[in-house]
Amino acid sequence: MNTAEPRPTVHGLHHVTAIAGDPQENVDFYTRVLGMRLVKKSVNQDAPDTYHLFYADGVGSPGTDLTFFPWPDLPKARPRAGQIVEVPFAVPQGSLAYWQERLTENDVTIQDEEMRFGERTLPFEDPHGLRLALVETDDDREFEPWTHSPVPAEHQVRGMHAVRLWEHELGPTETLLTEVMGFEKIGEDDDWHRYGVEDSGSGTLAEVKVVDQHPRTSNRVGGTGAVHHAAWRMRDSEEELELRDFIGRVGLQPSPQIDRHWFKSVYFREPGGVLFELATDGPGFTVDEDRENLGTSLVLPPSMEDQREEIEANLPPLDTPQLQA
Ligand code: ZN
Repeated sequence: MNTAEPRPTVHGLHHVTAIAGDPQENVDFYTRVLGMRLVKKSVNQDAPDTYHLFYADGVGSPGTDLTFFPWPDLPKARPRAGQIVEVPFAVPQGSLAYWQERLTENDVTIQDEEMRFGERTLPFEDPHGLRLALVETDDDREFEPWTHSPVPAEHQVRGMHAVRLWEHELGPTETLLTEVMGFEKIGEDDDWHRYGVEDSGSGTLAEVKVVDQHPRTSNRVGGTGAVHHAAWRMRDSEEELELRDFIGRVGLQPSPQIDRHWFKSVYFREPGGVLFELATDGPGFTVDEDRENLGTSLVLPPSMEDQREEIEANLPPLDTPQLQA
């Protein structure tokens, strides 16, 4: 391996995509309980009778964005090796007391607070079984509050802090993270191995636990509450293609670069089976809606516009909160 030339690395979390149950319950939880803004209402580009719902900060800053495909007919997922089993969010220092009360008032089952790597952490689940956590951090973030959030700006979710992976083996995943994607090992705590990339204004962490007693997942989609994939930030298309090239040269199988309209994407499975994506920061969510109106109408990529009538007729109605910024 020639390490003389600098190679591109990822720059933190871009977005995470998970599978939800009922879309209305999903909207209600993320906007009305967690106070995140629905910044994009679209459809699954491979299955356009399914919504693709994007929740983020006030403007959809990279790294704040948790997206869902609601597939209520799927069974509930069970966490397995080869999956992302939890998505911890960042909240400001001193916010957990507010969130304990808010989540309890909204009948969310919360677990006991934990200390992870010295950070106060409150684990809980969304209504469809996705494991989440709120972690108090003061790291530097690209963040704009959502002015219509029911959560005051000082307590709003700042974006994703990390993704937590269960794996059968540590070695191959660790090698990918550290030798290909640009992570450094930060430490170990309670059987979790923490890796980080350089601070870039969004979540920088991947955490891995070896769970050899759990069978590897055979169901690639998972069920409701499963994470579908995690996307990592790339500055631009050129950098993404360079890293794609390198991922191919170490024996993994990256997809061609796909134009997702709001960003360009490359997908690949890491050695343990988790689906990763590389996604460019630009052009971003304001490419087809201005900032004030993000999320207010059903947005389709230009290639699907000619099917709009049929697509809209096949989607269930959705009651969304006031969305203008
Ligand atoms: Zn994605």
